[in-house]
Amino acid sequence: MYNEMNEKCGIFGVYGQGLEAARLTHPGLFALQHRGQESSGIVSSTGESMYIHRGRGLVAHVYSGRDLDVLPGHIAIGHNRYSTSKGSTPEHNQPVVRPLAKDGEYLALAHNGNLPTTNTLERFLLEKNVDISSLNDSEMMAEAIRYYLLRGSNLSEAVLASYPLFNGAFSLLCMTKDELTAVRDPCGIRPLSMATINGGVVFSSETCALDTIGANFERDVLPGEMVSVSASGVESIQIMQGCQRLDLFEFVYFARPDSILLGQRVNEVRRRAGMKLAEESFTEADVVIPVPDSAIPVAEGFSERSGIIFRHGLIKNRYIHRTFIEPEQHLREKDVEMKLIPIPEVLRGRRVVVLDDSIIRGTTQLKLLEILRRAGAKEVHVRISSPPVRYPDFYGIDTPKQRNLIAATRTVEEIREFIKADSLSFLSFPGLIEATGVPEDMFCTSCFTGQYPIDIGERARELMLAPV
Ligand code: AMP
Repeated sequence: MYNEMNEKCGIFGVYGQGLEAARLTHPGLFALQHRGQESSGIVSSTGESMYIHRGRGLVAHVYSGRDLDVLPGHIAIGHNRYSTSKGSTPEHNQPVVRPLAKDGEYLALAHNGNLPTTNTLERFLLEKNVDISSLNDSEMMAEAIRYYLLRGSNLSEAVLASYPLFNGAFSLLCMTKDELTAVRDPCGIRPLSMATINGGVVFSSETCALDTIGANFERDVLPGEMVSVSASGVESIQIMQGCQRLDLFEFVYFARPDSILLGQRVNEVRRRAGMKLAEESFTEADVVIPVPDSAIPVAEGFSERSGIIFRHGLIKNRYIHRTFIEPEQHLREKDVEMKLIPIPEVLRGRRVVVLDDSIIRGTTQLKLLEILRRAGAKEVHVRISSPPVRYPDFYGIDTPKQRNLIAATRTVEEIREFIKADSLSFLSFPGLIEATGVPEDMFCTSCFTGQYPIDIGERARELMLAPV
């Protein structure tokens, strides 16, 4: 059920008198497309009536000009969804929408993150006679908030009352016909930033989408904080003492390079990671190439520090998206070939250093090495700008079960043999932290260390390795 539905998503919301909120949310979702390509949705409100449009596929496919005409109003929230194969059914598309007491009034909720354990929430809902059999974690959160709304609370009161029931990673945007609230879990595992535009307030998973619509970045919503916006203004409540633990993998892979996380431009962090990698595991070679896109700045940094020339030896077909989550292994392998196309002139007869951001199952590297050798590379040295991923994610990243994480069961040398590389090195954990320019204790590092800052409850039984 919901436990299979780890979601890495993008959320965006606007509240502004006189603004066409959905017309700002739409480009915002475009800018957050990298966080979810499976479905997209916007809910808007005029203060009197609410409107919804959701559909499967990319933002460009889901909305036509006319669809935005029927999303009027000064309040809107939007969501791009990315989930595992088992969670991809359309009825779970977001924003989640639930009817309230009066006709035409709804609660809408957009969630980025995942609740590894929902026991408390389930118990609460069962006590209140809510049928939870087909609900995922986001829908259960919406039901809890709805429960309080139906008993007369306004939105911020309802979110405040439900907050203790939520255990896990959540950056949430919730709206009713006249109020918008943004809230983050006490560790702030998934990002959420806040900005202003023409007297209105904007929330976005990443700052890149704020830049797209010309909003002025104000600050991040704090871990444990709720910010609510209504006709009476903007109000912040620190619901719980927060302790910032942003998912380190946001820097490694998810976030767009032009976004700023914890004050650091993602592109520059990746470039510094490449420099560190060159310091830690230099090798004699003729050319440095990135696996596009996330490793492009990494390869720039590696080239800069090593003095080895940077070239684009692989071109990415940008219109193929789902390599990582294809349910069938043989399809996943085929996808790599369709997605990454070699440039023989860059590779032929050369000793190549190839940079990538991470190894998860090992599928990409295995196929990639074949592609590079076929195109004539004489030697292939693989350098990865993160440490080995040994632990699954329970907070909203789509990772496979631990037994399918290649680094959980093989040593670096065994992985090298498996992918048939001439050499293989991962960036050290301290090297990666140094590259971020942020203290280690501000991160959730669970996929590298097995240390989960928010209780993962019964899911701990799925782990085979002790934390490091
Ligand atoms: P794999 O082929 O399973 O080793 O996947 C590794 C590649 O997938 C890396 O090159 C990353 O760029 C990419 N990647 C890492 N994490 C994710 C994720 N959660 N979703 C999609 N792609 C990912």
